[in-house]
Amino acid sequence: MATSSDKTVLVTGGAGYIGSQCCKLLAANGYTPVCYDDFSNGRRDFVRFGPLVEGDVRDAERLRSAIDEYRPAAAMHFAAKIEVEESVREPLLYYDVNVGGTIALAKACREGGIRHLIFSSTAAVYGETTDHQVGLTTPAKPINPYGQSKLTAEQILGDYAASTDVGVTIFRYFNASGADPDGELGIKFRHATHLVPRLVMAAEEKKPFFIFGTDYPTPDGTCIRDYIHVWDLASAHVAALDKPVNHGHTRTYNVGIGRGYSVREVIESVERVTGTKLEIIEKPRRAGDAASLIAGDTEKTRTDLDWSPLYPKIDDIVRDGFGWYRVVNRKCSIATSI
Ligand code: UDP
Repeated sequence: MATSSDKTVLVTGGAGYIGSQCCKLLAANGYTPVCYDDFSNGRRDFVRFGPLVEGDVRDAERLRSAIDEYRPAAAMHFAAKIEVEESVREPLLYYDVNVGGTIALAKACREGGIRHLIFSSTAAVYGETTDHQVGLTTPAKPINPYGQSKLTAEQILGDYAASTDVGVTIFRYFNASGADPDGELGIKFRHATHLVPRLVMAAEEKKPFFIFGTDYPTPDGTCIRDYIHVWDLASAHVAALDKPVNHGHTRTYNVGIGRGYSVREVIESVERVTGTKLEIIEKPRRAGDAASLIAGDTEKTRTDLDWSPLYPKIDDIVRDGFGWYRVVNRKCSIATSI
């Protein structure tokens, strides 16, 4: 059996929105990302930073053969179902892919000798909370099958780490947004439900933008979120490789900026960045939205991993979101100095 290469990383969901950014950053840092994806949501043209293995994340044998072929030292696990609303309609699918896929990968990692597994979790594990900032001690009480499936996967990985010599890093993402600053990779705008891509489309396509809820108990009545630039999210993953977790241990981090922006503040950012006024229509609340979710304990993430976000300002996130829209739609790129 060939020995593991410290510079090879298995990336499940490597053709997706966040996974592809990680593959790009890994390659830029001298790693070889092995993209494992079934293209149920990822894009084939995003696989350009290393080899591809096409497969379902629930297929432990296929995962194992990918590990045997490339001998990665670590695995990053992005492949998952991620839509809250869909998870309410299709809970079994969410548990099957998000829990079943994690078990399959954990099994393949143990058998294939991978020593570090990095898991994409979410702030959705916290559910409704009245805490101003959501720290790691805030009880995890998910309010939908998506959040519950991720929390269950976290718990399984914790038990798994304790029983093996695999170390597990869990990242709970806050609102990943934007695109890589080169405008090479980004979100699928069609059917996008998230705030930043919806605002980008409204501005570029001269359509009205709907605010879902203006009667929240927040200073301007709209929901507050902690937006983290997707490129900064990717860099937290690479930082975790440089600071490996002890074998058999699990460590959990919130990945956010630690500062919240209301929907109206993000709208103002879009208007600043583009110099255009948006037509806003106020709508009732969207089901399942918490009033405010801001990451706590971000200092721990920064200190432990020796990581800090390069793009903490909402204008940077919005600018790169527009840059990507214009690449997709073959328009000129937006001015970069704001
Ligand atoms: N939002 C909105 N209009 C939209 C999309 C989102 O007002 O067209 C609001 C949404 O209700 C929430 C915030 O923007 O308060 C962030 O929503 P997003 O879907 O981006 O993230 P998540 O719900 O996962 O926090």
